[in-house]
Amino acid sequence: MSPVHGTVDLDVPADVLWQCFRNASLWPRWNPCMFWARNRDLVLGQKLIWAFEPLRWWYFYKLPGVATLIEVEENRKVTWEVTIMPGFYARHTYSIEDLGDGRSRFGSWEKAMGPLFRALKFFWVGHFIFVKDRSLQGARLLEAIYQRAGQLDESTLPKRRGLRLFQNLKALVGGSDLLNFQIVPLAPDVWAVLGGGGNSLVVKSGGEVLVVDPKMSIYARRLKRWIERDLQAKVTTIINTHYHYDHTRGNKLYPGTRIIAHRTVPEAMYANDPGDWRDHPAAVPQSDNLIDQALRLNFGLHEIEINHAGQAHTIGDVWVRVRAGDRDIIATGDFATLEHYPFLDTSEYGANVSGWIRAARDLATKFPAATFIPGHGPIATAKDLLQHAAYLTFLDKSVAGSRHDGLDESGTARNVDLSSWQLSFVPIFHYGLWFLSGNTNVRSVYRLQTKQR
Ligand SMILES: [Zn+2]
Repeated sequence: MSPVHGTVDLDVPADVLWQCFRNASLWPRWNPCMFWARNRDLVLGQKLIWAFEPLRWWYFYKLPGVATLIEVEENRKVTWEVTIMPGFYARHTYSIEDLGDGRSRFGSWEKAMGPLFRALKFFWVGHFIFVKDRSLQGARLLEAIYQRAGQLDESTLPKRRGLRLFQNLKALVGGSDLLNFQIVPLAPDVWAVLGGGGNSLVVKSGGEVLVVDPKMSIYARRLKRWIERDLQAKVTTIINTHYHYDHTRGNKLYPGTRIIAHRTVPEAMYANDPGDWRDHPAAVPQSDNLIDQALRLNFGLHEIEINHAGQAHTIGDVWVRVRAGDRDIIATGDFATLEHYPFLDTSEYGANVSGWIRAARDLATKFPAATFIPGHGPIATAKDLLQHAAYLTFLDKSVAGSRHDGLDESGTARNVDLSSWQLSFVPIFHYGLWFLSGNTNVRSVYRLQTKQR
């Protein structure tokens, strides 16, 4: 066989990577092909004892391994030899190359031979490719952690993962967070209302209320009831962060209200959700309330700033900033979707992944001390926005890596493991999808990268 090998370039110094890598007992926490490993260090001549995860999480085997460490080069590489069974001989190398400027190249290389190997070659080659790809994805995860936390050790790596079945159940239950309607006071006359579709920002001035993203269905009605009964006020201004139905359907409850959005939003609404808007033209942002780049308005004593984020989660994302005392409160819309798998819109009005990453990073950099209301998920900080950008970067690079290896969409979906990010599934029942998951995220990015809109 020709060796199964691959590399990935990382913004992590070689010695930092090595110090984390050399503790094999931590492998399962960053390398999704590893179930368990015993060694706390890599020592030449010693036995390496570990177990692999199965190729698919629902296969119920763990493949144990015992090998001899035949090469250990500090900051550089480790090689082991598996000779446990007669007729089977394999060699695996992990390497780290110092690229200078705090960058490194992580590689995985594996080759096997012998009659027992040849008899089961189909299984083994599949397994080697799985190990190589998951290891490279694990290295990318280390890069994301290092960029966020500045160090790679037991304290910054993700917690030990439980059984995948339980992990998936947890991800499914976590999705119901979206249905948790929660009112969070942020400043005098400023609230976040979380859940029930997109998160909302509510600003009150006298008897008038401004709402950013008035939710959907029964949750939109609940929001309206709360504003009328508890705040004793009337909604006079709506801002839509983007065109998606879970943020905009609530517009219909406020006929005649001024609705502000990016100039591309009405066209996107009619094109992608005609059933929602054809019979409700008054709930679509009016032409004299559309913005191109930015708009400032005064709502009572509150200064409100609306900015186009460029093509990010959709073609027409805007973020909304409210000054409250000396604090900034910012509603981001869905270019920050936290703790849940985001929706990657592949329509012509949809996402631009690099624009999305840039938008989240820029906002976090520009307002490091702001309070953020993400499109979905809990109240957040600039750090959470950077974490979201790191997830999208990981997703984008991992899909590009699989495509580079010649995998098609299904192959890429099987190959890219997003479980380390511990995000929740999201019920959507819209745009041809049932749930948002790692699988749908990978497939959507694959389509965006190959321009199959
Ligand atoms: Zn959205």
